[in-house]
Amino acid sequence: MVSKLPRTWVLSIFAAAYFVIAGQAIARAEETGVDVSALDEFWSIQAKLAEDVEPDEEDWDRLAAHPVYQKLLSRKNSYKAFLRELYKTAYMPSRAKEREEYIARSKFHALFINHLDRTVSERALIDDFLTSTHVGDGDIGAFNDLASVYLPAGAIERSQKKPGLAFAVFTPDAYPISDLIVVDVLFAKDMGASFENLVAHELHHVYANELSRFREIPTSDDRYLVIQTLDYLAGEGVADLIDKKRAPISSFPAYMDDYMNAYNEAFSQSYVQLWEFDRAMQRMSACNTGCGDIAGEISELLPFGGHPQGFHMALAIRDIFGTERVVETVGDPVAFFRAYQEAAHQAPSIFYHFSDETMNYLDRLERELSK
Ligand SMILES: [Zn+2]
Repeated sequence: MVSKLPRTWVLSIFAAAYFVIAGQAIARAEETGVDVSALDEFWSIQAKLAEDVEPDEEDWDRLAAHPVYQKLLSRKNSYKAFLRELYKTAYMPSRAKEREEYIARSKFHALFINHLDRTVSERALIDDFLTSTHVGDGDIGAFNDLASVYLPAGAIERSQKKPGLAFAVFTPDAYPISDLIVVDVLFAKDMGASFENLVAHELHHVYANELSRFREIPTSDDRYLVIQTLDYLAGEGVADLIDKKRAPISSFPAYMDDYMNAYNEAFSQSYVQLWEFDRAMQRMSACNTGCGDIAGEISELLPFGGHPQGFHMALAIRDIFGTERVVETVGDPVAFFRAYQEAAHQAPSIFYHFSDETMNYLDRLERELSK
């Protein structure tokens, strides 16, 4: 949509504790479709590690050359070292002591090692998953169909984007990096029936970003972080209709209970959260110069990058006016707020109704920033 900065994507739940997400603009995915080819390379490295053999540099290079690993490793400079150490610590018998120390460091460290252990012990289940779902079809058509429910008719056909889906082994997570959706293969298997909706959520971002009705503004502009926040609320809110479907959310594996509970708690606070958001927006609307601090405050006000409150707003629009009305707002966060405001007017005891100052400010942003 409007923002030029990378989004903070839907998941990045566990890894985000360690790595600030920085999905730099990276070369396009070479192939449209589903790419499982990096997994063969992973298994050959894993077999060496299990025999306590240190892989050659060429082995690591071959792994890193797969588009999915290229994208993963580009997320942060230290990610390559992180992943290598994680593989070695999890799988090399001679590293048993380091492994115990690593596990003891935090519940995230323990979860990462457990995840790599299960990737090996559940390999047959993973292979079944890869062949028995739409992944086995080799193209992303079925995932596109799920995303298209919340896109204008023909948006995917007209799109210049050719997103792909690719699997690797890392942590229970998924990232859209450039136009490639990068997914940990065990996490995908653990998601079960919800996996296709998760991919569709990410695909929705790819196509919705193309439909933005606002022009880009430089990051130095005081309004930049406000626009980005509106984008997140609208973009994640609508995309969450695809995979989270309803609140409280329950579509993730049990080891993500902490995440789901925190999300649901944040969701339950939506009325108050939006009231606070409204108050900050009122201050922004009254500000003439040097408004960057207020914009920064607005961008950090809502938890989970705006997911729960965006979802709350999207559900209000869908449940009161229907899916069509949600679709009309895709690419236009101001339209999303207007539709929500109308819904809130219908059910003011459930949905917070924004102030006139905030709605007028949104009108002004639209006048100033429409393409
Ligand atoms: Zn998302």
